[in-house]
Amino acid sequence: MTDSGADPTADGGGGDGSENDPAPTVDPEETVDLLQKLVRIPSPYFEEAEITGFVHDWLAERGHDPEYHRVSEPDITEYEGDNVLARLEGSDPDAPTLLLNAHVDTVKLVEDWDEDPCSGRIEDGKLYGQGACDMKGGLAAVMVAFDALSGVELAGDVLLTAVVDEEGPYGLGTDRLIRDGYTDDCDAAVVTEPGPVLAQSEMENPALLLGARGRVFYDIEVRGKAAHGSQPEKGVNAVVDAGRLAATLDDMETGDHPKLGSGSVCPLKIEGGSQTLSVPERARLMVDRHVVVGETKETARADAERVVDELGLESEVDIGFREAPDPDIVYGPYVTDEGHPLVTALSEATRSVCGVDPAYGYFSSVGDFNYLGDRADLPTVILGPDGENIHGAGEFVYTDEVVEVADIVTEAAVRFCG
Ligand SMILES: [Zn+2]
Repeated sequence: MTDSGADPTADGGGGDGSENDPAPTVDPEETVDLLQKLVRIPSPYFEEAEITGFVHDWLAERGHDPEYHRVSEPDITEYEGDNVLARLEGSDPDAPTLLLNAHVDTVKLVEDWDEDPCSGRIEDGKLYGQGACDMKGGLAAVMVAFDALSGVELAGDVLLTAVVDEEGPYGLGTDRLIRDGYTDDCDAAVVTEPGPVLAQSEMENPALLLGARGRVFYDIEVRGKAAHGSQPEKGVNAVVDAGRLAATLDDMETGDHPKLGSGSVCPLKIEGGSQTLSVPERARLMVDRHVVVGETKETARADAERVVDELGLESEVDIGFREAPDPDIVYGPYVTDEGHPLVTALSEATRSVCGVDPAYGYFSSVGDFNYLGDRADLPTVILGPDGENIHGAGEFVYTDEVVEVADIVTEAAVRFCG
């Protein structure tokens, strides 16, 4: 759904003097100071009011006229919150619009920390805290990049979206952006999620991740037939059939993709059984299915149905997909073309900022970038500061990589938006 009026090949060089003027750089001290403030505000998903207020005020103080964008999901999660959006208007409506996306929430604070999980402590170039790497480092980077870009004449627009609820079950913040049309006039997206540490293959920053597998989640209801437990042959054992299904799904062949590798199946959980001396008549098997381009929810269902048919189970079997607030909420796989102008702009910016070529790879898990790359059909690149212990105790981000990512994003935006 890119704007058909925009010329996606209008890559850099369009702005007055931007070819000659060096792109602005961010202030490293201010960047790390901002990161520390962000980490010190606890913001597990569904509890983001304080951090969204902070991001809003930080942008407002710098004259960027941010707006709150309501995110409401009354049916399943009863969630009410706000994304924070800000836009730099370019001079040419036909020039490309770049989306910078970062989530403000973290996972729930884990209990294993042997210090305050929101300390923001810095030691040996590592800043510690829950969400420091995933992804307050990336959030700080796009905030300071956006601020730096406000001092440049750009032809195209830059839209900054600081979104809520990425770590929650449905990615409600970016889902709402898409549903309210904010991505319709965007031409490409940068998501500053942690980079190489979550890549499919081993690599180091600077790295550009050009796609990700998708994920569907289904469960299989197995209904057997109860009988006295001393005469199992008279019943149909739902637990045994669920176990057979799990073992067969575990061995199942999945799709392959030249960039994304293979899909995968992981049986997650079996529930059911009987307490007393009866053949269990019910069981439920929950399955995680990672998919590659060419595989969809429907093909995943067809694969599972084929397995059920081939096993010829006596139990009755029903395959169901997780209830979601909207049928569009699907983490689909995507791949961004290596030749896309955004990839070119980011590659050139990386060479300019770091003096080396970026590594190219693909992300191993799913996130808001799937919504942007697949649902919103935006060429989407992940580029983020690295760290360790993501989602766990001892999470940290390398502060020099936060600054580096901010400078790469700033220069790439100048090149891409012209
Ligand atoms: Zn994340």
